[in-house]
Formats: sequence, structure tokens, C-alpha cells
Amino acid sequence: MARKGRAQKWVYLFSEGSKDLRDLLGGKGAGVAEMTRAGMPVPPGLTITTEACREYYARGKRLPEGLWEQVEKALAAVEKKTGKHLGDAANPLLVSVRSGAKFSMPGMMDTVLNLGLNQKTLDGLRKLTGDERFALDAYRRFIQMFGKIVKGIDGELFEEALTEAKRRAGAKTDPELKPAQLRKLVDEFKAIYRKETKEDFPEDPKRQLRQAVEAVFASWNTPRAVAYRRLEKIPDDLGTAVNVQMMAFGNMAVDSGTGVAFTRNPITGRKELYGDFLANAQGEDVVAGIRNTEPISGLKRRLPGVYRQFEEYAARLEKHYRDVQDLEFTVERGKLWMLQTRSAKRTGEAAVNIAVDMVREGLIKRPEAVARVEPRQLEQLIHPRVDPAARLEPIGKGVPASPGAATGQAVFDADTAEEWGKQGRAVILVRVETNPNDVHGMIEAKGILTSTGGTASHAALVARGMGRPCIVGASAIHVDLKERALSSNGHTVRQGEEITIDGTTGNVYLGRVSMIEPKPTPNLKTLLRWADEIRRLEVWANADYPRDALKARENGAQGIGLCRTEHMFMEEERLPVVQAMILADSAEEREKQLEKLLPIQRGDFEGILRTMRGLPVVIRLIDPPLHEFLPNYDDLVAETTELRITGKHPHKLAELEKLKARVEELREANPMLGLRGCRLSILFPEITRMQVRAIMEAACDLKKQRVDARPEIMIPLVGSLSELRAVKLELEPVAEQVQKEKGVRVRYKFGTMIEIPRAALTAAEIAEDAQFFSFGTNDLTQTTFGFSRDDAEGKFIVRYLEKGILKQNPFETIDEKGVGRLMADLEIGICGEHGGDPESIRLCHQLGLDYVSCSPFRVPVARLAAAQAVVAEGVSTK
Ligand code: PEP
Ligand code: MG
Repeated sequence: MARKGRAQKWVYLFSEGSKDLRDLLGGKGAGVAEMTRAGMPVPPGLTITTEACREYYARGKRLPEGLWEQVEKALAAVEKKTGKHLGDAANPLLVSVRSGAKFSMPGMMDTVLNLGLNQKTLDGLRKLTGDERFALDAYRRFIQMFGKIVKGIDGELFEEALTEAKRRAGAKTDPELKPAQLRKLVDEFKAIYRKETKEDFPEDPKRQLRQAVEAVFASWNTPRAVAYRRLEKIPDDLGTAVNVQMMAFGNMAVDSGTGVAFTRNPITGRKELYGDFLANAQGEDVVAGIRNTEPISGLKRRLPGVYRQFEEYAARLEKHYRDVQDLEFTVERGKLWMLQTRSAKRTGEAAVNIAVDMVREGLIKRPEAVARVEPRQLEQLIHPRVDPAARLEPIGKGVPASPGAATGQAVFDADTAEEWGKQGRAVILVRVETNPNDVHGMIEAKGILTSTGGTASHAALVARGMGRPCIVGASAIHVDLKERALSSNGHTVRQGEEITIDGTTGNVYLGRVSMIEPKPTPNLKTLLRWADEIRRLEVWANADYPRDALKARENGAQGIGLCRTEHMFMEEERLPVVQAMILADSAEEREKQLEKLLPIQRGDFEGILRTMRGLPVVIRLIDPPLHEFLPNYDDLVAETTELRITGKHPHKLAELEKLKARVEELREANPMLGLRGCRLSILFPEITRMQVRAIMEAACDLKKQRVDARPEIMIPLVGSLSELRAVKLELEPVAEQVQKEKGVRVRYKFGTMIEIPRAALTAAEIAEDAQFFSFGTNDLTQTTFGFSRDDAEGKFIVRYLEKGILKQNPFETIDEKGVGRLMADLEIGICGEHGGDPESIRLCHQLGLDYVSCSPFRVPVARLAAAQAVVAEGVSTK
């Protein structure tokens, strides 16, 4: 809770802050403060703290006591420094008012520029600059932004008036508008403002400022900001700081401009200054991706002295922060102003290369490098790429903004992207540019393509953060949003037609193209090796087939934590045998079908055990309810009814009736809580006896070939020691018998899954008869919460997350308080979906588990996350 009263400091001058006050001043505020301290040219200003924002909400959206007095005092100091005064007709101070949270939320919250302009100061600005067109343009931009952001007026109203003014004047671009035309436009904007708000546009700059500050506070809780925080897992209660800063104008003349630059290439990680410059423009033009920018070398060509100075600051800032910086700057009539420095968002490839390079340069240590790469980012390195050998002709090319390739149906608006994506269709969202209102569609899209914008445009930043392939600035592609089509090079792609984008090269292709699996780069191998040196948790993989096991091994898995044998039963040529086995009238008939399955299963196990030789392979006995292997009951009712009515195919009808009767017998109201897991072994022991025989025969045969097979047989859904004992009583003799028959002994184990609360609670007792345990956190989550794992996510978990009833989806990240508590004090592994989730891996590390088991593709992610869990503990890792 904030301290009350006069003593509370709500406002900091830039010269008072530092990078260590990021919680309080937000990322932007801390950055400008640090640059100010370092003696760099930063337009003077002040920061209102995040604490003030929290207090604003705590007080029911009213500014905290004493805050305004402090703003006025700090403002006076800024005025003194700049020699300009807010509202002074002769030498007016104009300011920007920007949000700045602790974690960057690009474009999510609001900014007002040119604040302080009114009828009087407009005249002052005109005289000072000698440029009436510039002054009027600044004024109309201010009214537009203030109206839209502070008063919530529909931005389209202003845009329409601007378009109409350009049409009247026969102008193509904004700067072509003449002063008289702009004056008229300013009047029109004010009329819109009056009509929409029923009040006049505020003339008093202090009033403008106060309203803008409140609007920035309010923008912390807009639906799009809330949605972004959810996606990025940023807490809702941090609040935003507000930065009030003297305006620097990049649009004042030809020796002015604005730009963004990264101290290293944020896409590849290469050590080079990388960014965009826009001559004679204001900052918002770059980030919004409205105009196509030129590379930062444009600044070098136009203003070499400014470029050299900027280059020097960039190098100093990177060294100072010991990380790649994302810089914003403006040049006003040949003078460089630094506006922002923050740690740069980067692709997975860049993150790995930069981390490894910085260790080599002596800038950071290995554990730091390991902690620097977001585990989820590694997935980008794991994305498929378009096969270069395929020699395809792209239909267009843009700026590669986020790597990986994706194929999907083209859609031209975010709502359709969301709708189709939620239906499970792969879509590519195609836009002229994106803005924060498109984020919901970007989340559901497999890839994003825009025809304008640069590497720092909204689409690029957001896609990179989400790990979606993205191409921006594909200017040769004409996007027709009305017609829902794109055309390029004589080709037209309409909504619903497939395209492929390659965010690594920037190429766009028609239809589906052949892709290749990525191979880990030397730097990735190095980083993972460092992670392996640090981590304590082992990383295993879930794999059902030899090809998956191979992938897992290549990715560094130390065992197979879960091989789900029922997946093998589902294959097309096997299913009829499995069905015949289930439908069998007698145990003998069932045995006959099982005999057919035995060699097939033995082959499956031989393959996976051979691939994983020398490493443990946990093979789980059949788990799902048997009716999952049989046809759908409702379909059978429909089919038999039709055959009965038509009287056709009596023989087929009889067969189907029999099938229907058996399916009906096996039907359950709650199959996930029904006859499945070890309960199947108890009722139909011949099925799992066959499986154990297949496993042991495969292992013995391999042993004879001198292949070190290490099967671990896992019994699912055990709830009590007696249940486990009953199953083992059936199965252990089979394992012994096979070894006798084969004349060899192999290393094998019997163990169980802990996936229902009773098993967790009585684990100490169950341990008497289990040689190993593994947490099945999918079922454990289902049974602990009483949430159906099949329906809950689609039915209500999304709403729970929206309402904040749940902070995270418990099927994605382990619920630490409940499920996590059931997992404490047992030294074992985990093989639920959570095994690949970085946050859950941290918890597993803290709980002292031995290993996590996840999808083969995620093994590198898990290796990194397991190392980060150690680094986060802050203990020395040499
Ligand atoms: C589990 O329940 O967590 C598990 C790994 O098994 P399955 O998902 O196959 O039920
Ligand atoms: Mg399970």
C-alpha cells in the first residue's frame, strides 16, 4: 500500500531517476533517467510513478493527493532547464505525454504529442520556427490525438476529415497541405471535438496536461492492454508510469528526422547497428508503420555527424546495460535527441547468438547467457523453414521480421483470423499494417503478413514476441481489404486460399510448399551445453514411435518418460484387430486376437528401445476407456435405424447391431473417471499381459543382440497400493516367464503414475511396490480441480482467465497451490503436458523432482528452462 500524505514522492525529474528505479518509473522513465545521468542529450522531463497509477485506481480513478502539486513543481524545473514555458505565447514549451510500464507493451497504451498548443502558443510556435505549415500541422495532430486518446472520440472521424482536406487540395500526402487548408482542417477538427464531447477544445495547457495524465493512467486497463498482458504473462497490478517530456520535432525541416535502432540486429543477432530512419517525420510515423522507412544508413548519408554521435551513444548504452538496446531518437534541425533506451526484443535466433557472443566478448557470464534466452523463444529455432532446394518462385517479398515458415488460408481481418483459428484452421493474417486492435487475430494466426512497415512496426514487434513467423513491408503486394484479396506479380489470392510465408527470408509463396526441419546451430548447441552444465533436473521426452524417440535423442533427451501404447492401437491397419479383440465374446476369442497384436506391439517396442539404447524408456500400459477404440454410439444408432427402415443388407444390419450392443455395454457417463487405466488390467488382464510380454520379448531379443534396452513398465491411474498389487500379481510372472523362455535377463522396472489425488496422498505406501513414479499432471489437474480435461478449456477456462478467477490455465502451467502441493515430497518424474512448460519446470525443480518429460521438440526448451531454474536460485554456478 502506498504511503499517504505529503511525504510520498509521486514525481521524479529525469535527472533524479536511474535504471534501478524501473519498478517505480517504468522502463521508459528509467531509461531516459539513465541516459540523462550519463550526460546524453535527452529532452528534459518528469516521470509520474507507477505507484501513483496504482493509487489512482485505489482511489476510484482520482489523482493521488499531492500529485498535482508535485507535477507543477517538477514542470517548473523543466521550464527552467529548457527556458520555455507551458502556455507562453513567445516561447512555448510543448510536451509529449507517454505511458511507460515496467515491462514494455509496444503500442498498447496511449501517447499524446504536442501538448501545450493552443491558439496563443500556436502563434508563438509559428514565429519561432518561421514555418506556419509546420505549426498548424503540429496543432491538428495534437487535437486529433487528444480527441482520440483523452476523450475517446472515434479516430476515423478525424481521418475522414483529413482525407477530405487532401482531396479538396488535390494533395497526395499530408505535408502537401498548405497553411490555409490546414487552418480550415484545424477548425474542422475542433468542430468534431465539440460535437462529440459537447465542450470546446481546452485552451489551458495545464488542463490539457492533467487530462492527458489521467488518460494514460486509464489506458492501463483498456481491453487491448489487458489482453496483451495476459498473453505476455505481465501482472495486472503493476500500473504504468507517465512521462512528460519536452517535444523534440523530427518533422521541422530536412535536417530533421526520427528513427529507431537496435545496437545489434534483433533478427539475426549480428553485431551491427540496425534500424529505420524517416527523414522529416515525427516518431509515431515510424512505429505505426504508416510510411515506408529507410535503413539507418539513410541517417549516415544525410547527417554523418549526427550518425557518428548516435553510433557512439549506442555502443556506450549497450556496454552500460550489458545487453542489446532498442533506441529511439529524433533529430531536430541537426541536433540529436535520445528519447528511449530499453532492452531489445529479439528473435530466438538473435537471442541465442547475442547471448553466446556476449560471453565470448566478456560482457556477460555463462549463467547470465543461459538466463537471457526465453525458453519459449527456442521454439522459433525449432520451426520449419521453406526448403531452399525446392527452388520456388515467390510471388512477393517483404522484410523478414520474425523467423519460421507457415502455411495457412489468407484472411484479411483480425476477427476472421480469430474465428477461423479457433475452429482449428491454419490462417495467415494479411493486413496493410497492424495495430493493437489486431492482436486477438494475430494470436490465432499461424503467421502475419503486412504490406507496409519496417522491422520496428507493430506487426513485427508483436509477432516476434509471440514467436509467429512474420513478414512486413511487402510493398509489391497489393492488399485490398475491401475485396479481401491480395495481388502480386499477376497472382491474386482471395480469402480462404492458401499461402505460405517465410519469415526467415521474407518470401511469400502461393499455396503449400515443402518445408525442412531445422538443425540446431553451433551457438544453440553451445548455449544448451552451458545449460546442461548448470541444470540439475534431467530432461526426458514423451514419444510413442521410434521416429519421435530419435528426434528426442537428437535434441538431448535423457530418456523416454512416456510412451503411450494405445496410440499404436489406433493406427489404421491395427484398429480392426483391436476392435475384434474388444468385441470378443470369450476370453479365448480375445486371446486369439491378442496373439495377432503381440508381434505388432513387439515390433513397436523393439524400435523405440533400440533407438533409446542405454537410456530408460517408460512404456505405459493401455490407459483410455475401451470404447475410444470403437465406432461412435450415436452413429451406430443412426446407421442401424436406417438399415432397419430400408430393409437392405440384413447381414450388415446384424453385424452392426452386435457392435452397437457391445458399444452400449462399454458406454459410460464419465469415461475419464471410468473403466480405464489399471482398472482395465484388473478386468481384462489378458490385454496388459500381452503388452508386458511384447515389451519383455523385445527387450530380451535386443539384449541378445547386445543392445542395452531399459524398459520401465508403467501402470496408469493407480489410486491405492492394493490396486497396484493386484495388477503386478498378473504381470510380474509374465515378465519373469519371458526371460526364462528367452534365456536372458534384462534390466526392467515396474512403476506407476501418480495422477489422481488419492495416489499422491498415499504415495508413501504405494512406493512399497513401485520401483518408480511419474506424475501424470494432465489427469492430476483434472481430478484435483474436478475440471474435465477434454471440455474445460473450451467451455469455461477462458472466461475464468478473463475474469481473473484463474491466473493461468492449469492444464498449461501447473497449479502450484493445489496440484503442486500434491506433488511435494516425492522424488520422481513428470510426464504430463506440463513437462515442457518453463514455469512448471521451475516448479518441478523446486519440488526436487528427478526429471521432466516433454514433447521431443520441446526438449531444448526444457533443458534451458531447467538451467534457468538453477540460475534463478542465485547460487553460484561457476
Ligand atoms: C497425464 O495424465 O498427465 C498423462 C501423462 O497421461 P495421459 O495424458 O495419457 O492421460
Ligand atoms: Mg493420464
